[in-house]
Amino acid sequence: MDSLLTVEAAQALAVAAARPLGAERVGLREALGRVLAEAVTAPDDVPPHRNSAMDGFAVRSIDVGDASDVSAPVELRIVGEVAAGHAAARAIGAGEALRIMTGAPLPDGADAVVMVERTEAAGDRVRILEAARAGQHVREPGEDVRRGDVVVPAGATLGPAELGVLASARRAQVAVTRRPVVALLSTGDELRDVDQPLDARAGKIADTNSYALEALVREAGGVARVSPIVRDDRALLRAAIEDARAADLIVSTGGVSVGEHDHVKAVLAELGATLDAWRVNMKPGKPVALARLGATPYFGLPGNPVSAMVSFLLFVRPAIRTALGCARPFDLPTVAARLAQPLRTRGDRRSYLRAHLRSDGAGALTVEVAARQGSHVLSSMVGANALVAVEPGAHELAAGVMVRAIVIAAIG
Ligand code: AMP
Ligand code: MG
Repeated sequence: MDSLLTVEAAQALAVAAARPLGAERVGLREALGRVLAEAVTAPDDVPPHRNSAMDGFAVRSIDVGDASDVSAPVELRIVGEVAAGHAAARAIGAGEALRIMTGAPLPDGADAVVMVERTEAAGDRVRILEAARAGQHVREPGEDVRRGDVVVPAGATLGPAELGVLASARRAQVAVTRRPVVALLSTGDELRDVDQPLDARAGKIADTNSYALEALVREAGGVARVSPIVRDDRALLRAAIEDARAADLIVSTGGVSVGEHDHVKAVLAELGATLDAWRVNMKPGKPVALARLGATPYFGLPGNPVSAMVSFLLFVRPAIRTALGCARPFDLPTVAARLAQPLRTRGDRRSYLRAHLRSDGAGALTVEVAARQGSHVLSSMVGANALVAVEPGAHELAAGVMVRAIVIAAIG
């Protein structure tokens, strides 16, 4: 019997087979979720000018150093107003103040701002009710970002904050990695597409993998190219794989085990592929073929729908993230969580159990493992946001025990 590869060893092979793709330029508004292919530096300081952090009065701290509450206010003459987006018409001199709004450039002569709530204005006079030190409520140029600083590094995934910061660096377009094209092949004589009638007596079933995996490809940042369903026929499978070779990665499901009609490995051998791994120490998903067809990574995933999804998340997703040039291709976090119910497992492979993680409201996580864990029970993935990893052996885990969970969707 072949020895099983550890999940970690198989993951290392999966990412080693993938190479970063080239870049393309996209408009900033189209860049959400893309991976930055360049380090972006700030062309100027942010903010670019000294400005007020408050609505109030721009003053000279030297004039108001002794001001205190209504018992000993300092009175200044108001010489104008400056709003955000406008320059002050004049500088201020001794005994003078300028009404100023949040974000407005500080007028020359002023070195502090007194917030409006600490003043009393009447006509062109303002009483200052608190002392101000130099720099009070003043934002200096470059306080947010300094000119020349890297604001977003290459390999970063662009989220809302990154897009905002790129706008502050005044980048209308950015270079992002091209999305990898991922060919998806569902194999099996029993498969029918969703709009075809099923013949239950003949054991026909709906092809669920191409739908679930297409969504997983998109979530990972790739573009799926879904092939027509491939029958369990060696020549047809070979033709379908050859047709998929234009893609950046190829993923097939089914036909990779030891059944009479499992042709994936044989066809890969015929095509001269290098088989890096076959059979991984995990449940679900033991038969996983990791191969390279020329320079193209090939993932032969098991057909069972849960096995296909779990092995996709563990092996294909990191390879897609590597092709995207991500700084961290293994981006699904592992967290510790408290078991909500007792759990009994046994087996000679590491189990990945579908589960639902929730925050207990006090900062800790609890996890509830789905009752039915068969690798054909696709409905166990609905609502699952975590995979609880349990090492081989017999385990009787009591409720409240801490376990390791890989987060696969948002924690609600
Ligand atoms: P296989 O890996 O080809 O031996 O398939 C294992 C199990 O998964 C069988 O019960 C198949 O019918 C089922 N299966 C294979 N491919 C798919 C698919 N694309 N969608 C749903 N079930 C599938
Ligand atoms: Mg099959």
